[in-house]
Amino acid sequence: MNSRQVTAKVKGVRDDIVTIQMLSNADGTPFPIIKNEVVHICPTRLGVEGRQEFLKAEVLRVRFGEADVQVFESTRGVAIGDPVEQTGHMLSVSLGPGLLGQVYDGLQNPLELIASQHGFFLPRGLEVSGIDPHQHWAFVPVVKIGAKVRAGDVIGAVQEGRFKHKIMAPFGLQGEAEVSWVQEGSFNVTTPVARLKTDRNEIEVTMQQQWPVRVPVSEPLLRAGNSKRLFPNEPLLTTIRLIDTFFPIARGGTACIPGPFGAGKTVLQSLISRFSDVDIVVIVACGERAGEVVETITEFPNMADPKGGSLMDRTVIICNTSSMPVAAREASIYTGITIAEYYRQMGNNVLLIADSTSRWAQAMRETSGRLEEIPGEEAFPAYLDSSVRALYERAGLIENNEGQLGSLTLIGTVSPAGGNFEEPVTQSTLRTVKSFLGLSAERAYKRAYPAVDPLLSWSRYLEQLSDWYSAHMGEGWVEQVKSMQKLLQAGEEIQQMMQVTGEEGVTLDDYITYHKAICLDQVYLQQDAFDPVDASTTVERQKALFHELLGCLTKAREFGDKEEVRAHYTKLTGLFRNLNYSRLHSPDYRKYEGEIKAT
Ligand code: ADP
Repeated sequence: MNSRQVTAKVKGVRDDIVTIQMLSNADGTPFPIIKNEVVHICPTRLGVEGRQEFLKAEVLRVRFGEADVQVFESTRGVAIGDPVEQTGHMLSVSLGPGLLGQVYDGLQNPLELIASQHGFFLPRGLEVSGIDPHQHWAFVPVVKIGAKVRAGDVIGAVQEGRFKHKIMAPFGLQGEAEVSWVQEGSFNVTTPVARLKTDRNEIEVTMQQQWPVRVPVSEPLLRAGNSKRLFPNEPLLTTIRLIDTFFPIARGGTACIPGPFGAGKTVLQSLISRFSDVDIVVIVACGERAGEVVETITEFPNMADPKGGSLMDRTVIICNTSSMPVAAREASIYTGITIAEYYRQMGNNVLLIADSTSRWAQAMRETSGRLEEIPGEEAFPAYLDSSVRALYERAGLIENNEGQLGSLTLIGTVSPAGGNFEEPVTQSTLRTVKSFLGLSAERAYKRAYPAVDPLLSWSRYLEQLSDWYSAHMGEGWVEQVKSMQKLLQAGEEIQQMMQVTGEEGVTLDDYITYHKAICLDQVYLQQDAFDPVDASTTVERQKALFHELLGCLTKAREFGDKEEVRAHYTKLTGLFRNLNYSRLHSPDYRKYEGEIKAT
């Protein structure tokens, strides 16, 4: 289809939903249009400086001869009868070298570039290429003329920062193709580097491919059997003790962090993105307050990467503030996950943090309302549950065409209004994810950081990955962790009893249990994000600490009275905390270790 052909005209406007009427083809039938296709609305009232604007929109609903489209811009000045052009493409992102280190909006416009050219307010109708067309990359082919390739097969690579960025045969390629021409050298992403001959035609391949964001990158590859989906079989190590030991997240797994305001969600997310054992981090900041987004994009580039260099070198940020049009907010999460899938397909471990999925769901609700769909609970669309599930299903572990493993771990935050976990978005998310890290305002108030409530949180991965734990953390690890969870529960019950009866009202045994629980909480669960040593505990160190602490808490010990109990566990807690703040095997570390053994 001619990409500049007017095939429809505006029939009605309702906020950012525009109804378009298809014009007639030569044979008298309306031009065909499909769901999720991108169209451009061309207002006849010209924009500032008399510029013709092209407002990008996505088709949401198709009826005979008509379609409802969602405009990613303000629809100010759009009038009945304005021409509409079809692009013939779905809402897509550009995938290729040069994505790392970028800050994009939900439609993959590079924000820094736009800010440098146009100031902070994006002029309406502006589209900038997601990948810099001027940058050159040294392409080294790995296939020769005559080689047979399938969708997703590697045809060459470039060096993108510290990563070997694999250039893969188009994901939409059908069947097998033969390499009819390939060249080595330094090119930009729009220069052909190879040609592939299929049964039907010959296509040129560049280092960049466009991919529709609502279709998983891996979908055609899995369907054709070029790649395989596997069960996650190891944890994503975050070096946060409470997560790795008690509520683990699998590599390629899913987790949800709900956070009442001020409960430490931002700090926790930045710890996870910094210290997790992954290659690439994609952050989707969709529609939080503008201030928070600014915080994310100013903080990240300055954050040191424990793996060396700046964290931004292996990060992609997609950000939208709530002041941006609602449709762009809804799209941003798909843009982010498509980029994450692309890097996973190369065999990387990728972490995607979506903050917050509540805003994404609210964007869906607004759109659904404007389309006058039948609402479900709290006016969210009836398909909320399936949309949430479909999103989290894009996470996972795969074996790519080359037999390498790549993972995409998805951590979504939810921001339930008033901390009410019963609301639909939190509930849908909880039905889908396998790990739940419930931040609690109460623990944050007590400054018990990370303020994840151990009595509220859960993870199905502890059981699911039990083989990994037995092999790496010791036989019986899962049972030991569970026994410590029970101790926390018992401690809480005794504390509640004491609030009524006072210390005198509980038995000596209960009093001991209570102090053991406090000790476990303070030593193991709480971790100081701002201490250079305590901020990050390697899994080896967690194993040693856990066993040492478990030994102390399960050792049979006689106490004369409650005062003795308190004194003992207070001392033990202090020693362990000092141990946590000491560098591994330093003189201090050995000293505290010795004192713990002697206590
Ligand atoms: P939220 O994003 O939930 O509003 P923040 O993540 O900004 O909250 O945390 C609020 C404050 O709590 C931080 O400025 C910091 O002082 C404290 N805090 C949060 N998490 C930790 C942590 N893991 N260790 C130490 N202090 C923390």
